[in-house]
Amino acid sequence: MQELPELELYRALLAERFSGAAITALEFHEDLINEVAMELQQDVVGKSVWFVERRAELIVFHLDNGKRLIFRLSDEASIYVGSSNETLEREASIYIRFDERFLALHGVTAADIELMSVKELESIMKNRGIDPLDKRLSLAKFMERYAKKRSSIKTALVDQSLLAGIGPVYSDEILFEAGLRPDRKTAELSHEEWESLYSALNHIVRDSISHGGVRELPLFAGDGISGLYRERLAVHELEGQTCKRCGGTIKKSSVAGRKCYSCPDCQK
Ligand SMILES: [Zn+2]
Repeated sequence: MQELPELELYRALLAERFSGAAITALEFHEDLINEVAMELQQDVVGKSVWFVERRAELIVFHLDNGKRLIFRLSDEASIYVGSSNETLEREASIYIRFDERFLALHGVTAADIELMSVKELESIMKNRGIDPLDKRLSLAKFMERYAKKRSSIKTALVDQSLLAGIGPVYSDEILFEAGLRPDRKTAELSHEEWESLYSALNHIVRDSISHGGVRELPLFAGDGISGLYRERLAVHELEGQTCKRCGGTIKKSSVAGRKCYSCPDCQK
């Protein structure tokens, strides 16, 4: 799955470019055309996008018929917003056209785009954790969510039923920022450590969004920001490199089957 900062950047871009626009065509790569795809074409062409939101890992277009057009973007997927006179070097799986603009979805399958009712969307959301950008996520609420979780803090952070949108990249960065070892158990964290973790979560997610996230593929022509946060990563996939904070060496380890990158000197 893609993580929150990148998904949030997509949401902001799509909201800016497509809110209020009418869908003029929905095109599938020939390998993806099936009955469901044809039906979806009939259902969405001619409808307008009222607004765009992100719900956990889903990008959601609110259509003017009250339905929700949702996109799931796996790790391999990417999006590109272009104008109709542009030709793409990479073939897209799906194009959604809006008069002179289009949204291209790369690396998706027909099952990654779906039209659903509000009720259906809400039933999916029932199993998702709180969004790190949700203003209601106070320190108390954050701690309360993990109170019953008996695991390492790394495992807890990527548990999508507790917190939405944090995966391998940002869990490593959040734990570094908080100064906590990934294998520490949630049950043994002090109040002060929970505070550090909460503040690291808030800081890292927002810092990445303001620096374009870690995915370097351009989202539109002239995109000079996407992926700039990669330069700011402190530990993720930086095994063997020097820690920017203490000069020690970043280590790779495994916690409950998950790869972790951390600085043994900065994280206790
Ligand atoms: Zn260090």
